Amino acid sequence: MDTKIELTNLSKEELNTEITKIGEKSFRAKQLWQWIYYRGETDFNRMSNLSLNLRKTLSEKYKITRPKIITEQISIDKTHKWLLEFEDGERVEMVYIPEKDRGAVCISTQVGCAMGCRFCHTGSQKFTRNLTTSEIVGQFMVARDAYQEWPSPTDEVRYLSNIVVMGMGEPLNNLENVVKALNIITDSEGISISRRRITMSTSGIAPRIVEALQRTGVRLAVSLHAPNNTIRSRIMPINDKFKIEELLKACAEYQQGDHSRYITFEYLLLKGINDSIENAQELIHLMKKYKLRALFNLIPFNPWPGCSFETSERKTVEAFSQELEKAGFAAPIRVARGQDILAACGQLKSKMPKG
Ligand code: SF4
Repeated sequence: MDTKIELTNLSKEELNTEITKIGEKSFRAKQLWQWIYYRGETDFNRMSNLSLNLRKTLSEKYKITRPKIITEQISIDKTHKWLLEFEDGERVEMVYIPEKDRGAVCISTQVGCAMGCRFCHTGSQKFTRNLTTSEIVGQFMVARDAYQEWPSPTDEVRYLSNIVVMGMGEPLNNLENVVKALNIITDSEGISISRRRITMSTSGIAPRIVEALQRTGVRLAVSLHAPNNTIRSRIMPINDKFKIEELLKACAEYQQGDHSRYITFEYLLLKGINDSIENAQELIHLMKKYKLRALFNLIPFNPWPGCSFETSERKTVEAFSQELEKAGFAAPIRVARGQDILAACGQLKSKMPKG
């Protein structure tokens, strides 16, 4: 059995403790941190400023692993999707969505998802387990390997400039590992992605929103998808536990005292269910009631095999967007990316149905 300790599971402080435990000075931990997270090195033998003895000890006791790439697909619009496997054989998908000179990597936090949102292909795959810190950080490092963004480039020139924690799973149900992973990813001596370039998306675990954002400093996105409890409970079972009122109160609390904080509300338009002008007006009313600084991300539904929802007409989506914009809310319609390789929002899935 492999008893080596995975170094990418450790926070900066924990790495320091570990290295002092084997009789080394703190500055060695700092060098090691830079090798792992600034240079992307996985082989102790190539860490040239560490003594041969230390390199040997490190190789005997520790390891730095990446998730294994099982398949990779690149869409006609250059969206890049990986199927990744961890040491126990569990798998998740990760997607890179490139723009002209930058792009966002969408990472997963759980294998499967327990939230069961009815419109979500990912959610139709049963929850198996939380990802570890190492498995969350490791996803982004795989993307960096692929685009050769080692050593960590500066903000201006990196392609993998943003991270969205919106892949498979509900991040607030794996909070400890997600917080630790984001603190590693944002550390300025390593991967160094700015906190304002990271967005964490929740399906609405209201009681954890404020804590999660305080501990990470990243931006918040909420999968709202409905303007009232009747519709929301019909498409998102989490709404039976945390109603819209509780969710929006938590959002307002998160914004208190910081006027730069905007919340992105994700809104998937489902034909005949939540896409009417009245629904848009209900949404505006909610935003005003809770005094939220909000922008909307309108997502035309991407059908997936076996689903019963339909895509709204283009003119319905446009009218919905215009209604929100008339009330002063930015409400762009998201252009679906990577649809041909099922990499678009809510389409991720790491297990195919048995045929
Ligand atoms: S939308 Fe997000 S929270 Fe809902 S089932 Fe899909 S992955 Fe889970």
